[in-house]
Amino acid sequence: MADKMDLSPHLTQLFINNTYVDCLNPQKISVYNPATGDLVSDQIPIAGPDDVDHAVQAAKNAFSPGSQWRKMSNVARGRILTRFADLLEENQDHLAYLTRLTLGAPYHPFGKSEIEMAIGCFRYYAGWVDKFAGQSFPADDGFYKIVRNEPLGVVAGITPWNGPLACVGFKAAPALAAGNVFILKPSEKTPLMAAELGKLVLEAGFPAGVFQVVTGDGSTGALLASHMKVDKVSFTGSIATGKTVQALAAKSNLKRCTLELGGKSPAVVFDDANLDNAVHWCVNGLTTNSGQVCIASSRVYVQEGIYEKFLAAYQKAFEAKRNVMGDPEATGTELGPVVDKAQYDRITKIIERAQSEEEGTLLIGGRPKSTKGYYIEPTMFVDTKPNAPIYKEEIFGPVVVVNKFKTEDEVLQKANDSRYGLMSGVFTENLNRALRISSAFDSGMVGVNCISMINFACPFGGTKESGLGRELGVNALLAYTESKTVLINMNYKDSSW
Ligand code: NAD
Repeated sequence: MADKMDLSPHLTQLFINNTYVDCLNPQKISVYNPATGDLVSDQIPIAGPDDVDHAVQAAKNAFSPGSQWRKMSNVARGRILTRFADLLEENQDHLAYLTRLTLGAPYHPFGKSEIEMAIGCFRYYAGWVDKFAGQSFPADDGFYKIVRNEPLGVVAGITPWNGPLACVGFKAAPALAAGNVFILKPSEKTPLMAAELGKLVLEAGFPAGVFQVVTGDGSTGALLASHMKVDKVSFTGSIATGKTVQALAAKSNLKRCTLELGGKSPAVVFDDANLDNAVHWCVNGLTTNSGQVCIASSRVYVQEGIYEKFLAAYQKAFEAKRNVMGDPEATGTELGPVVDKAQYDRITKIIERAQSEEEGTLLIGGRPKSTKGYYIEPTMFVDTKPNAPIYKEEIFGPVVVVNKFKTEDEVLQKANDSRYGLMSGVFTENLNRALRISSAFDSGMVGVNCISMINFACPFGGTKESGLGRELGVNALLAYTESKTVLINMNYKDSSW
C-alpha cells in the first residue's frame, strides 16, 4: 500500500555516495502506522552485503587522504554542520511527520523535542570543529610533544526506533565534527525520516560518501558491525543486541564501539521533596513517548512519610495523561500508541503476567485503550515483589513500579541493585542529601529534583549493562577520535641513545 500513502520514491531507496539508489538486495520490510494498524509501506529496503560494501567503499573514498572532506578547512566543515542543523529546523514538520507515521508519538511533546535535540547537537558540534585541536607539551626532555585528535575513519551509527532523529544528532554530529565519515543504519521500525535525510545531506553540501543512509534490519546492522573496513560502530538499542554488536566488532577488526543500551531508572522521592515537582517529573519521565525512552523514570521509590500523598497525586496525574491519549495527529494529544503490534503484544503480556503471578498490585491502567491501533494506558503497579520481572526488567512502555522505603541506606541498596545504570533521580529539598545520594547512585547520570533530562554539553550514557562509553559533550569527540602522539627530537646531538 506504499502508493496509498503516496510515499516519494526516494523513501524506499538507499542514500549512497550522495545519490538515491535502488537496493541490490531484493528483500523488503513492511512498516505500519501504530495509530491505526494500517500498512504504510511494504517496500522498505534491507541493505544486503553488496549494498553495505558499496556504502563502505564510498565512505572509504570520501575519507581517503587528499579527499575533499579530509582537506576541508574547519570553517567550511563547521558551516556544513550548521547548514544541516538549519535544514533540520526548516524541515522539522515533515521529518516529524515521517517519524510519527510509524512511531506514533505525537509532535507535542515528544516529536518536537527529539528533533530539537538533533538540531541542537549539530549546532553544538559545529561549534567544536575548530576547538578540538589536541595538546602540546614543551621540549623539557629534548622532545617537543604534540598529541593530535585524529578521526577514526568510517563510523557506522546503528540506531533504535524510539528517538530516531535525536540518535542521529547524538552520533552523526560529533562523528562528522571530528572529521569522520558516517553511515546511518536506522531502525527497521522507523526508516522513513532517515531516508529523507539524504536530501538534506545534499542540500547542506556534504561531499559524496561523507554522510550516507542504508536502511535494513538486524542483518544490515550486523554487516556493518562486522565489516573489516568500518572503523567504529556507535550503537543504541537493547542490551542483547549491544552485546552482539560488541562481539561482532571484536571478532572482525576490533573496531571501536560505543554502546547506549537499556535502563530502568529509579526516581527516589524523600519526605521533604516538593510534591508537585516530584509528581511532574515522575509522570512526564514515564509517559513521554509512551514510556519508550531509555531514561524513563520507570522505578519510583517513595519515603513512607509522603507515600500516600504522592501516590494520590501521581495517580491523578496518570488519569490526566490517560485523557490526552489518542490519535497522534489530533490537536491536544500528548500520548500516542506504542510503536507496533510486537511491542504492544510484549507489553500487554508483561502486564498480564504481573497480574496473574501477583508480581505487585495493579493500581491504575493495564488495559488497552482502544480497539484500533496499539494503545496502552499508563499503568502503575505498587508493592512489587523484589525479584519480580515487572520490577527488575526494562519494559519500555508506559508502565511504572512504585514502592515505599524507610531509610536512605535501604533505598540506595534497592536503587542500585539492578543490571542497569543509565539514569537516577533524587527528589529532596536537602542539598547535602541530594549530593550524597547523587554520588552513591550507580548510574551514568543523576537528576536532582528532576529526571529523564539530557544536556548536549554533558556526557550521556550508562554504567553496568546500560552501556559502554559516553555520547554528547567533549566525551563524544574523544570517542570518535584516536589520540596520536608525535615526538619531535629538538636536540639529537645530545641523545643518550
Ligand atoms: P534493538 O536492539 O532491537 O535494535 C537497535 C538497532 O540494532 C536497530 O537498528 C536494529 O536493526 C539493529 N540490530 C538488530 N540486530 C542487530 C545485530 N545483530 N547487529 C547489529 N545491529 C542489529 O533495539 P530497539 O528495540 O530498536 O530499541 C529499544 C532499546 O533501545 C531499549 O532497550 C532502549 O532502552 C534502548 N535505547 C537506549 C538508549 C540509550 O541512549 N541508552 C536510547 C534509546 C533506546
